[in-house]
Amino acid sequence: MSIDISDIASKDRNSVLHPFTHLKDFATGAMGDPTIVETGKGIRIQDARGNQLIDGFAGLYCVNIGYGRTEVAEAIARQAYRLAYYHSYAAHTTDQLAILSDRLVRMAPGKMSKVFYGMSGSDANETNAKLVWYYNNLRGKPTKKTIISRERGYHGCSVISGSMTGMSFYHDHMDLPLPQVVHTGAPHHYWGAEAGETETEFSARRAAELDRLIEKIGPDNVGAFIAEPVLGTGGITPPPEGYWAAAQAVLKKHDVLLIADEVITGFGRTGSMFGSLHYGIEPDLITVAKGLTSAYFPLSASIVGEKVYRVLEDGADRVGAFSHGYTYSGHPIGAAAANAVLDIVEKEDLPGNAREVGAYFQAQLKERFAQLPIVGEVRGVGLMGAIEFVADRDRKKRFDASQKVGARISKAARDRGLIARAMPHGDILGFSPPLVVTRGEVDEILSIAESAVRSVMDELAGESRA
Ligand code: PMP
Repeated sequence: MSIDISDIASKDRNSVLHPFTHLKDFATGAMGDPTIVETGKGIRIQDARGNQLIDGFAGLYCVNIGYGRTEVAEAIARQAYRLAYYHSYAAHTTDQLAILSDRLVRMAPGKMSKVFYGMSGSDANETNAKLVWYYNNLRGKPTKKTIISRERGYHGCSVISGSMTGMSFYHDHMDLPLPQVVHTGAPHHYWGAEAGETETEFSARRAAELDRLIEKIGPDNVGAFIAEPVLGTGGITPPPEGYWAAAQAVLKKHDVLLIADEVITGFGRTGSMFGSLHYGIEPDLITVAKGLTSAYFPLSASIVGEKVYRVLEDGADRVGAFSHGYTYSGHPIGAAAANAVLDIVEKEDLPGNAREVGAYFQAQLKERFAQLPIVGEVRGVGLMGAIEFVADRDRKKRFDASQKVGARISKAARDRGLIARAMPHGDILGFSPPLVVTRGEVDEILSIAESAVRSVMDELAGESRA
């Protein structure tokens, strides 16, 4: 199918309100034309002008099975022909939904009981926050409501999930965060540790801070702690040694629920099926989205642990029906897409690929970048990784923000045919390729990234001489 590129570009410019886009620069054309993405196969996408790009970020950490998997397209079409929609209110279901839910309860870490569905990671976190409040109301602890999240955590951009997100630019000018949400320090050893502090000592300090925060708010006022097993949008930062054990001990002591936001880490990215399995996390509630359908259909889920669910069911005689649900909760096409995607994840052992090819990826990332003079830290786990650039390695001094080093490196990669994302909170180049990526493709991705980094490094050297 051929399209009229300039017609589409002008329709888009006139009528789409794009997320994360400088509205004036886009409207005036200063950003150039929109990229019209037309097709995708494996780890590559192609735009309407025929340019191919390697998607080193799997869309937004979501197209885990890669693009163009016809098995999933067929499963979606089959379900659309059979039954495009029915709701799941008042005990209605579909075969695909029941099969998926049984599967998720069995796959998920910890003692899970039920699955509630939404359409996005944000709304699933919204559901999990409401479940924390509902749970504590039903068990007669109506003050136990504050949710503690972490600075640099990302949990979505709706009202509660956006409040839980620990990044000020999601709050500024949007009247967030809500007062029910409080933030604690990010577990990032490179920036957070004191001189000579080991990872384990740093983790213990972060846990002690969490303990003090809960004491200050009052344990009777704290409902839950929400965290990603691996900080994602906050800089692709794996937890320091001992962090999860120390943090969970504090939560247990104060009877505070743990919500594991597995929107990125769910379904294989760390090399284990869930990040919680990778780090010994025992969540009470789990949030999944993205990899659940590899983004072939919008679908998210709140997986509810037995401890929480039991209170909900026991309270039903007092409060009546569980009054929460979306028109599209448990959408049958989404369920069919998820079942087809999980078949691929299991058959092709994508967590195993993330472990094996991921180990190669992590080693190569270190080998190619760790010694460069503008690189402060190389980090990652499985098939998620990041390079953080600094002006002064010895003094751990960041580049001046006006130099836009991260954005320039990301752009240089893009100009060479690779999408690798410039991330907030410093100058960070992030990678999160589809989980089907091969060693050869890892070499391709990192060769382009290295050429991009070296070109900007040369530019910076020129600028500092000038
Ligand atoms: N949680 C995490 C950990 C995420 O990475 C994201 C999305 N990047 C979300 C929640 C929100 O998901 P969505 O954009 O689908 O609302």
